[in-house]
Amino acid sequence: MKERILRCSTCVLPNTTPGISFNEEGVCNYCTSYRMFKVKGERKLLQILDAKRNPKMKYECIVNISGGRDSAYTLLKMKKDYGMKVLALNYANPFTDKQAEKNINNMVAALNVDIIRFDHRSALFEACFRNNLKAWVRNPSPAMVPMMCTGCKIIWRDILRIAKRNEITLIVNGGNPYEYTSYKKELLKVSHTENLLTTYLINIKGLTAEISRNYHYLNPKCIPTFVKGYLFGNQYSLGVRLLGKQTTCIDFFHFIQWNEKDILSRIKRELNWDFPHYLESTWRWDCQIGHLKDYMYMKTLGMTEKDDFYAKLVREGLMTRTEALARLKKENRLHVDKIAELIHQLGLSPKYFLT
Ligand SMILES: [Zn+2]
Repeated sequence: MKERILRCSTCVLPNTTPGISFNEEGVCNYCTSYRMFKVKGERKLLQILDAKRNPKMKYECIVNISGGRDSAYTLLKMKKDYGMKVLALNYANPFTDKQAEKNINNMVAALNVDIIRFDHRSALFEACFRNNLKAWVRNPSPAMVPMMCTGCKIIWRDILRIAKRNEITLIVNGGNPYEYTSYKKELLKVSHTENLLTTYLINIKGLTAEISRNYHYLNPKCIPTFVKGYLFGNQYSLGVRLLGKQTTCIDFFHFIQWNEKDILSRIKRELNWDFPHYLESTWRWDCQIGHLKDYMYMKTLGMTEKDDFYAKLVREGLMTRTEALARLKKENRLHVDKIAELIHQLGLSPKYFLT
């Protein structure tokens, strides 16, 4: 069957990807400039873990969990395989899928680990999300889709505070190296080949340009949240680097090879982990905002983050191109019912957004 959109002949990126170009063989520039990811290995991970083991301490590390598959596996490995004294942390995001909540309860019980669930205890974050959503609808720009993740953008401040309070100096994350979306950088005028740190430093320029074209983002009430989001957006941001100087933050899958089949098989069997099957995908379903972002990217770019993720897995030899195409066909379906639920929760009319 003929594909409706033109895709790279090597990976699966469509010709609508920001900053994409193709050579004579139909291979995209994301493929030709791609550098294969190299895992650091279990030995290096064990060196870090062994340095943090301490019989006098109640906890030796924090593992951040969302209810999704990769953080579930990270928690399992840290507690069961490496015998670390783990404190699980979870941001009680008001938009968490019910199945993710169940998964969190199941994994904590199965592994017998303590958990701290924190929230922002403020209506301000919801108000800022509503403000950003309204601003976006006035002038839909794919570059501003990440602005919908207001709540998660400031959790690193809480994570560092909890670590300090419990005298924990190691934080382990379950994010996998293939899911850092490359096309988002191009949207903010940063080359997709730049690393995380340079991207962080340059993308403020692109953000400023976007905001100058749509000043509705600049609601005075939301500016402090926006600044905090920039300072504490992820473990590589400035605020986290400064406040977390005494803390080691590691990405588990930078040390251990990410393997979807192994991950799913172990967490299903040992943690009673599951996902809402009608959503088709086991990736990024745990927060309802994900469905909204898929919709926004699809409407403005004709692709979602899954196109980028699967393109990387194909380049890495972790998935065949045929399988990636089959998955995209199935998993890029938009879940309008979920989005309507979310918009309703924000006190807006779904009609306002979905038309
Ligand atoms: Zn390609």
